[in-house]
Amino acid sequence: MNAIIIGAGIAGPAMAIALKRLGMGVTLYEAREENEMGGGVFLGLTPNGLNVLKEFIDIDQLKGDYTAGTMEFYNARNKCIGRFDTRDQARKYGAETIQVKRARVSELLRQAAARQGIGIRYGHRLNCLTERAGGVEASFDNGHSHAAAFLIACDGIHSACRAALFPDAPGPVYTQQLSTGAMMRMSGSPPGFGAIKMVFGERAFFAYAASNHNPLATFFRDLMLRHFIRFEKRKMDWVYRYRPGSIAL
Ligand SMILES: Cc1cc2nc3c(=O)[nH]c(=O)nc-3n(C[C@H](O)[C@H](O)[C@H](O)COP(=O)(O)OP(=O)(O)OC[C@H]3O[C@@H](n4cnc5c(N)ncnc54)[C@H](O)[C@@H]3O)c2cc1C
Repeated sequence: MNAIIIGAGIAGPAMAIALKRLGMGVTLYEAREENEMGGGVFLGLTPNGLNVLKEFIDIDQLKGDYTAGTMEFYNARNKCIGRFDTRDQARKYGAETIQVKRARVSELLRQAAARQGIGIRYGHRLNCLTERAGGVEASFDNGHSHAAAFLIACDGIHSACRAALFPDAPGPVYTQQLSTGAMMRMSGSPPGFGAIKMVFGERAFFAYAASNHNPLATFFRDLMLRHFIRFEKRKMDWVYRYRPGSIAL
């Protein structure tokens, strides 16, 4: 049986590998070109996600460059107002939350899919789905089409598949939250590897964390460290409801 998967971000390649293990023929279609797949900043991977990912990729390869999952929350006066401590998760769940580059997760999954012989067709943006006897036909904006027994939509929040199949379904709604981030190397005395520090103001917060990328660097004054910096502008009133020690995972 042959399947088509639309979207080769995170879910698509993982689903492709799973279907391949069940003995199915799978083709992945991705709107972006291969050299455009490096987008995104961070993904937080919690133990349940990591335990699933272990089925598909070598988690140690993700750990070449990551930040810890523990989070410390500070108010505008630099007072610690809460802490999510994830250090116990490895003992409890077999994995501990980490923040990694989204592009790296996608890359490792796509590499794993390719090793299993799964074809990834980049530069194919789905624009039409037609249900036919015994299956479905997907058409792409470059004129290509492909018929298969079934199709799985892994094309993200603005899914063209969902729009084609369920035109009346509610779409995503902009919630007035805007988040952006960056990674940079810093000199001086940057904070060491450990918790993500989140500093909250009235209408915005700024968070930062050092990655494990070069742990020896703290011993060398002029050596640059890689840092993950995240700006988020959003109202986070809920965090003020907690006192230190009252946040439990
Ligand atoms: C470029 C990019 C950067 C992101 N960066 C972050 C981030 O920094 N932090 C974060 O928390 N989340 C980020 N996300 C969202 C996050 O990856 C997903 O919400 C989450 O991982 C779920 O994964 P997914 O595979 O369902 O969807 P996605 O990861 O969104 O992957 C969907 C894939 O489908 C492809 N696609 C979309 N429409 C079509 C179409 N019509 N035809 C063919 N292919 C199509 C997209 O190009 C994409 O590769 C990003 C998503 C993208 C696409």
